[in-house]
Amino acid sequence: MVDGFLYAQPVKIRFGEGCFEKLGELLDELGVQRAVLVSGRHFAPQAERMTAADGRFAAAFCAVEQNPQLSGVEETVRLCREHGADAVIGIGGGSAMDTAKYAAAVAPNAGDAIDYYRGRRSFDAKSRLTIIAVPTTAGTGSEVTQVSVISCGDEKKTTNDPAFMPTAAVVDPLLTLGVPPRTTMNTGLDAIAHAIEGYWSKNHQPITDVLAIEAVRLALANLEKAFRDGSDRDARGAMSFASLLAGLSFAQPKTAACHACSYPLSERYHLPHGEACAFTLDSFIRLNADERLEKLARGAGAKDCAELAAHIRALKELAGLRCRLSELAGDVDAADLAAACLAHPLMNNNPRRFTQDELAAMFEALR
Ligand code: NAD
Repeated sequence: MVDGFLYAQPVKIRFGEGCFEKLGELLDELGVQRAVLVSGRHFAPQAERMTAADGRFAAAFCAVEQNPQLSGVEETVRLCREHGADAVIGIGGGSAMDTAKYAAAVAPNAGDAIDYYRGRRSFDAKSRLTIIAVPTTAGTGSEVTQVSVISCGDEKKTTNDPAFMPTAAVVDPLLTLGVPPRTTMNTGLDAIAHAIEGYWSKNHQPITDVLAIEAVRLALANLEKAFRDGSDRDARGAMSFASLLAGLSFAQPKTAACHACSYPLSERYHLPHGEACAFTLDSFIRLNADERLEKLARGAGAKDCAELAAHIRALKELAGLRCRLSELAGDVDAADLAAACLAHPLMNNNPRRFTQDELAAMFEALR
């Protein structure tokens, strides 16, 4: 029997090679007249060409860094207000899309970004600007989530609010062809972590289960190919689709233990988001293994959870990602790290409850 569920997905999704070229049609459809573009530096030359060619692209902020800072949101808000923007278009990895989403929610309202970050003001989904999310990595799924992850100094904070849900997503695999191999692996493992965590989340449900299994299957079959040959369009297309499915699979259920641990790992040791999630993913697959997870492993093409975990570990080693505590900066205190991970609210979403000793033992095994 299928369990009862509630599933909602409000984002208009366009997918396919070359669909970014039709961005103008989407602006017409949505009635956008003055948009601010937001991207990382890799996209700056193209953003400049776009603003010169079409008056609807009013301004561009192209200096978003990894683990994006609130200052980038503030600059985007300033541009939106100065140009009377009615839309923000985030083109990039999660960092650019999350900056765009946050700025779109702040710009039309009173107050500064810091007032919202510190909880002195609340977001309002009705008044936010139109948000168009264009992923250029295959990983975060931010184009279909109401999450924005923004840092202020060393504090990295996830905010989950309906005001951040994109109006539309434009997923064009051709935009990912230039992603360097290591970033391809980091982001691809992030997508796998989303799908697996959405699946084992306490809030999983039947539609997201199906999306998760297919996302993991596609990613396991294509991530190594995309890593070895970034120009492999079939592999890039499959990874963009896998990342989108993975985003849909965790958007509602939310993530769990791996993502809980990724925050202290990124804050303390500055691991990029995907690498931080991947650091504990194979360990948690072994610890969370049960009948349901075995079903995902088989559906994704592995013999069982042990083989799934070994495949993920092999991908990390192939790309030279950090797999051991000894590879992190300084002398890591496993018990202290375990305590910080346990304190993260996402840990409550994990199907199994861990003690601090159990988590410390997991980290010690990675020393
Ligand atoms: P990223 O956005 O930080 O990008 C990584 C690097 O790749 C950057 O230097 C970027 O400029 C570069 N880059 C991106 N696309 C490129 C391309 N096509 N060619 C060449 N270089 C390119 O990395 P990410 O992994 O996509 O995003 C990570 C961020 O997203 C983290 O802050 C993470 O916490 C957040 N995140 C958000 C969600 C969400 O639902 N909002 C989900 C997961 C992660």
